Amino acid sequence: MADAPGLLGPVDQQALDEVVTFTSELIRIDTTNRGGGDCRERPAAEYAAERLAAAGLEPTLLERTPGRTNVVARIPGTDPSAEALLVHGHLDVVPAEAADWTVHPFSGEVRDGVVWGRGAVDMKNMDAMILAVVRGWARTGFRPRRDIVIAFTADEEDSAEDGSGFLADRHAELFAGCTEGISESGAFTFHAGHGLSLYPIAAGERGTGWLKLTAEGRAGHGSKVNRANAVSALAAAVARIGAYEWPIRITPTVRAAITEIAALHGITADLDEPGFDVAQLLAKLGPAAALVENTIRNSSNPTMLDAGYKVNVIPGHATAFVDGRMVPGGEDEFRETLDRLTGPEVSWEYHHREVALQAPVDAPTYAKLRAAVERFDPDGHTVPYCMSGGTDAKQFSRLGITGYGFSPLKLPVGFDYQALFHGVDERVPVDALHFGVRVLDHYLRTA
Ligand SMILES: [Zn+2]
Repeated sequence: MADAPGLLGPVDQQALDEVVTFTSELIRIDTTNRGGGDCRERPAAEYAAERLAAAGLEPTLLERTPGRTNVVARIPGTDPSAEALLVHGHLDVVPAEAADWTVHPFSGEVRDGVVWGRGAVDMKNMDAMILAVVRGWARTGFRPRRDIVIAFTADEEDSAEDGSGFLADRHAELFAGCTEGISESGAFTFHAGHGLSLYPIAAGERGTGWLKLTAEGRAGHGSKVNRANAVSALAAAVARIGAYEWPIRITPTVRAAITEIAALHGITADLDEPGFDVAQLLAKLGPAAALVENTIRNSSNPTMLDAGYKVNVIPGHATAFVDGRMVPGGEDEFRETLDRLTGPEVSWEYHHREVALQAPVDAPTYAKLRAAVERFDPDGHTVPYCMSGGTDAKQFSRLGITGYGFSPLKLPVGFDYQALFHGVDERVPVDALHFGVRVLDHYLRTA
């Protein structure tokens, strides 16, 4: 956090206190999403809605399935002609095994200046920051220029069908006028070594293609000649998919990321130079290579196999699942390549599919996000990046909303944000939350 007076912005002590309390109390409301509908966000949704209502807003609670509650509220801006901005955070968390943790994952304990628990970085921290900022505005009567739509969602950690998917499909009217959105997985400190602090802002997400492969063969005795063995056909296809080296495909966001990160390492990278070798360049970027290496190409990892029931019986049927991801614009190539890799004996279909996203890094919004971070950490450097996985932004993109990953946190050296995501001992420093509130407040005031 900037120490110089005057650089701290208009955030008051109450907002700083509230962001810590809200993070801790939201963690204490166990919203574990075990998948398959096993989750109940309602108590957390009510908690958030009460705090929005106390700030003079009129939150709406929405459920497709009882208990799977979403909250939406709109802050009217001063300029009715301006496009609206969506600020969203999910309320559910992934499971946590208490025995593995130093502090109970649903205690929300604040110990030595650190808030502990599941959701501390993904993403009850951001939910708490949003609440703290809008309540601070209510105390002074501040109104933003753009309409700001706040959404707290259910079911992000599973299918989003009870959360952002439901909101986008059934309640589009609540998001009228929204053209851009901000949410999780961006603007955290990434320590790149040699004292270099990066703040990756997400400006894109790879698409998801979870595949089901099926081989049909001829069932029979395991001792007989069988040229139509489903297990052999499936295994061969799975091996080809797992071994496939996807070609490099540099999208605009990743191009900007590589160029900017390289420049911060004192390397001039000309990606258009004939013979440019991205792997060679990444090898020179040290830890920062992790910000791009998963998003320079499509990927396809076999994850599940199922066939047979007895060692001397050849089954007539074998199935496998593959976790596929595609870079923005890479879906046609993904499909054609899978057709080729599976071959004529194995069919494949999308078991689950989500679009890839790309947000412009030359847009005014991106410049404002960048400026807000650098104002409060003048030694930090924002860089764009593409997420290797996906968020609720995919669902909201159906409403024409361009999403950025922006949940600002200033983290000390040794705090590996990406390892804490869904990890054991998830926690967030109080100072990081304070920084986040100041940056979010400033960005939203200038948005
Ligand atoms: Zn998340």
